[in-house]
This record gives sequence, C-alpha cells and structure tokens, in this order.
Amino acid sequence: MRVVVLGAGFGGLELTTRLSEELGAEADVVLIDRSDSFVFGFSKLDVMFGRTTGDAVAHLYRDFVKPGVRFVQTEVRGIDPAARKVETDAGAFEADVLVVALGADLDPAATPGLVEGGHEFYTEEGAFAARDVLANFDGGRVVVGVTSTPFKCPPAPSETALLVSEYLEERGLREQSEVALVMPMGVPIPPSPDASAALLAAFAERGIAWHGDAQVRALDPNRKVVVMADGEELPYDLFLGVPVHRVPDVVAESGMCVDGWVPVDPLTLETRFPDVYAIGDVTSVGTPKAGVFAEGQAAVVADAIVARHRADADAATYGGRGICYIEFGGDEVARVDVTFLSGQPPTGRFDQPSVAYTADKGEFATTRIRRWFGREWKSY
Ligand SMILES: Cc1cc2nc3c(=O)[nH]c(=O)nc-3n(C[C@H](O)[C@H](O)[C@H](O)COP(=O)(O)OP(=O)(O)OC[C@H]3O[C@@H](n4cnc5c(N)ncnc54)[C@H](O)[C@@H]3O)c2cc1C
Repeated sequence: MRVVVLGAGFGGLELTTRLSEELGAEADVVLIDRSDSFVFGFSKLDVMFGRTTGDAVAHLYRDFVKPGVRFVQTEVRGIDPAARKVETDAGAFEADVLVVALGADLDPAATPGLVEGGHEFYTEEGAFAARDVLANFDGGRVVVGVTSTPFKCPPAPSETALLVSEYLEERGLREQSEVALVMPMGVPIPPSPDASAALLAAFAERGIAWHGDAQVRALDPNRKVVVMADGEELPYDLFLGVPVHRVPDVVAESGMCVDGWVPVDPLTLETRFPDVYAIGDVTSVGTPKAGVFAEGQAAVVADAIVARHRADADAATYGGRGICYIEFGGDEVARVDVTFLSGQPPTGRFDQPSVAYTADKGEFATTRIRRWFGREWKSY
C-alpha cells in the first residue's frame, strides 16, 4: 500500500511517525514538504520576544529518519483527488491512500495597508522580523489585531498582547505605551468561560484595552490608524497583525474545498474522495486550527491506514480533544483541555496560570521533537 502525505507540519509529522512505529519497513510512505525544516507555531512568539533565535527553533527534515518513510523536499503543484495523483517539482506521485496535511496559508497582502504599514507575526519570516522591530521600538501605541476568521491558535493574539506588555515593562517603556487587542470573538476563548475570564482579568490588570467582536479591515499607514470592520479607527505606532488565512492555492485548485476549506467526516477525517483524507488546518472539521488538533486527527488516520493494511475492521474515531497552553507572561502558562464534538457545544476545563504548566508546555515540545526527529531539544 502506497501512502502519500502532503505537508510535513504537525499533522504530517505525527501521521508518518505513527505509520513508521506501527508498520516499520513494511510501510511505503512518502512525506512531501516544500520546506527544509519544521517550526512550532509557539516558537514564533519565542523568537519574536527575543527568548531564542530562528536557527534554534528550526527542526531540519534531514533529521526525520524513519523506517518505511521517505521525505521529499519539493513543491506540490497539483492534486488530483479522484485519481490520488500528485504533481510536484520532483515528479508525479501516485497513492493508494492520499493524506492532505498542507495547513493554512497566510495572505498579509489581503489586508490593505498591512504590508506597508504594519507587521504580521504568523509566518516565520514575519515573526522573526518582528523581533528586530520590537527591539527597536521605543514605546507608543501598540495594536495587536486579527484580520479575519478562522485563524490559527485562537489564544495566540491574547498571548501576544500580554507578552508585548511585559516586554515593554522590562524595557522601562510600558508607562509611555498603550496596548490594545482587537479580536473577532466576544471573549478571548469562547469554548472556555474560565479561560476567557482569566485572560480578561489579566488584560484589565495590565491595562490592555480589549476590543472584542471586532476585526481589522485595513491599516492607513499615512494617518497611522487601524480601520476596523465597523469603521471605528484606532491610532497606532506599532501594529502586530494576524493575517488572512486560506488553503494553499494547490488545494483550492484541486476541487476538494467547500466554502474555502476541505470538508471531512468529523469522525474519520475522510474527504468525499475515496481513500483521500485531510487533517489539520486545511480542513473545516470544526476544531480550532491548532497543532494539537492536527496531531489528534493524524492519530486517527494512522490507525485507519494500519487497520486497512492489516485487514483489521476496527479503527479509532476522532474525539475532537486537545490541550492548549496559554502564555500569561511572568513565566506562567495556563492550560485549557477542550473537546469539540460535532453537533455539540464544545466543553473545556481551565487550569490557572502557573510555573508548573510552563514546564509542561516545554515537555510537550520536547517529546514531539524526540519522537519525530530523534533528538533532544529545549524550546528556550
Ligand atoms: C504564533 C502561533 C502560535 C501557535 N501556537 C500554538 C500552540 O501553542 N499550540 C498549538 O497546538 N498550535 C499552535 N499554533 C498553530 C499550529 O502551528 C498550527 O495549527 C499547526 O501547525 C497546523 O498543523 P498542520 O499539520 O495542519 O499544518 P502545518 O503545520 O502548517 O503544516 C503544513 C505544511 O505544508 C507545507 N506546504 C504547504 N503548501 C505546500 C506546497 N504547495 N508544497 C509543499 N509543501 C507545502 C508547509 O511548508 C507546512 O510545512 C500556533 C500558530 C501560530 C502562528
């Protein structure tokens, strides 16, 4: 059975690791990504706030060596889901089982004025460049803002506002600065009222202005104002933005999308094309766009592929559960354990910020790098 996995992000790495663990050299798996390395989403914030460097957070795919799995660094140019055939710069690949794990692309140019007058911190380049921008910033009005929904890692803008506030305080610039956060939801973490309450309390305590149910439509770099969707304007000196998200072009052109994302069966992650699965941010499965959910979906698809290989009827179904860590600053991290079951309201449990969860978060990252890349690593 030939398995082709497109995208070596959170979902693709976990899926192919599990296939190798279960099937070893019996597996015939090709893993394709354009990049030479993997970077955790949260490492972007670590680089941006000067805790570590870009080089230290890049995990090279040449270290991803697994029995039965071949990594190919190339650009995916075309996907034919009906034929399970993929065109790439390294030639064509045909699959018995195809898994699309190409994530969400970011489009800063879709927000007028963002490229010219602001900074986005969701791409690697953007976050790494924002490190120097922050280091050279000598205080003023900072706006952290979201430009559209859905967006990856819903807690990340809240974390960024808290970390900016702390960063300015450490440099003696907080008193002459203002920090505002613009988010499209009414509360920071809608599935967890306790997490939202803790974040809103932290914003109030640190003097961060919360603008909920609001979205950034454009920046006017000449007048130095952020224009919101309802026309309200916020003056800024430094804008840190979450850009528009969309599926990669090659997925949009494949005919797999409905309303911009790839629909899947929420229990099995199957697309409407036989033996074609999609996992992670590229889907509209109903969980937030976050690595932990991509990882959980990868486990279910790995199980299905192994069951098929062994002609075993039983495979696990997806439970929609994920644990997210939220940075509060002051070396404290909180934890939300949340479950999204199709057709039911999400349920969540919140654990208050503590230094112990900072260690948990570090351990979460360390164990992934150990399993995927076979080496020891500390996030910072
Ligand atoms: C600032 C920030 C903080 C975050 N913090 C967290 C966190 O604390 N916890 C958490 O769980 N999640 C977090 N996330 C979200 C997390 O990074 C993503 O949700 C997760 O990586 C999605 O996994 P994925 O496998 O679906 O896609 P990705 O990990 O994005 O992988 C997709 C892969 O596809 C490749 N690709 C795309 N198009 C092509 C093509 N045409 N040809 C070849 N290769 C291609 C890309 O190079 C990429 O490697 C954060 C994100 C950001 C931006």
